[in-house]
Amino acid sequence: MTARLLDGKDLARRIQQGLRARIAELPRPPGLSVILVGADPGSQVYVRRKGEVAHRLGLRHEQIDLPANISAADLAKQIRRLGDDDAVDGILVQLPLPSGLDPQAAVAHIDPTKDADGLTTTSAGLLAQGRLGLRPCTPAGVMALLADANVPLRGARALVIGRSLIVGRPMAQMLEQADATVTVAHSRTIDLAAEARRADIIVAAIGRPRFVTGDMIRDGAVVIDVGMNRGADGSLCGDVDFDAAALRASMITPVPGGVGPLTIAGLMANTVTASEARQRR
Ligand code: NAP
Repeated sequence: MTARLLDGKDLARRIQQGLRARIAELPRPPGLSVILVGADPGSQVYVRRKGEVAHRLGLRHEQIDLPANISAADLAKQIRRLGDDDAVDGILVQLPLPSGLDPQAAVAHIDPTKDADGLTTTSAGLLAQGRLGLRPCTPAGVMALLADANVPLRGARALVIGRSLIVGRPMAQMLEQADATVTVAHSRTIDLAAEARRADIIVAAIGRPRFVTGDMIRDGAVVIDVGMNRGADGSLCGDVDFDAAALRASMITPVPGGVGPLTIAGLMANTVTASEARQRR
């Protein structure tokens, strides 16, 4: 079998088209503020890309660069200031933060109604309870991709590899809420290959290049690769051995061009949703 490629770029373009129409209905453009602490090269690339997409969509976008040695208290003050600013609808603190700053503590200062990344405890609680809310962008993007490709989720056996608060855990909750039967694997899982071979859908969010090998994929499985691992030469590769997996899977995401663009589209969608709620209040 040779897998069909799930094109995240194309779907992200279509999502952004829909957002343009929603933005046009608003009295003022939605405002997105992105805080970048320090100068991590990977984070700089991601923040720049988010800014470019926000600009193309006509959002009012600002990037706030803060020094790596900022204190937790000063960072909190900056985040809370954005919460008080009526022109700001979405706030994103780019992760990871430099060592010494606790990401959870920083995220806790984001006004939950402006939680563009869907990572506050309020957003996590709404997701856990299956209630409407701002969703973490990457797993929301994966759900959009699965829906767009008409992948049946009800009753499907899904394996999520990784249990981070940003990707794995919310991913598992979303799949379970779509009636998949979900297994979550992590670094203490005893026999990952056996778990993987049982899965109709595999979502890999590990952060280890080509960790999921072809022999772990059951024939016809759908493989979603969230991993973004940068090689010494700057090239990107996923958590899945793409060439080997593509021979067995029915559908697979490339890296880059799979989940990444949907994460950015999800950020824009959350900002527009938050802005609609504020402007129509
Ligand atoms: P993370 O916080 O480091 O979490 C990694 C997860 O993988 C952990 O739950 C860990 O288990 C698990 N893991 C580590 N080694 C394992 C092993 N040998 N077997 C099974 N599980 C193992 O990473 P993350 O933030 O979730 O990100 C994961 C990957 O996705 C990274 O490559 C990141 O760059 C990428 N990412 C991509 C996007 C995108 O837009 N495409 C967005 C976010 C992240 P424990 O919990 O037991 O430690």
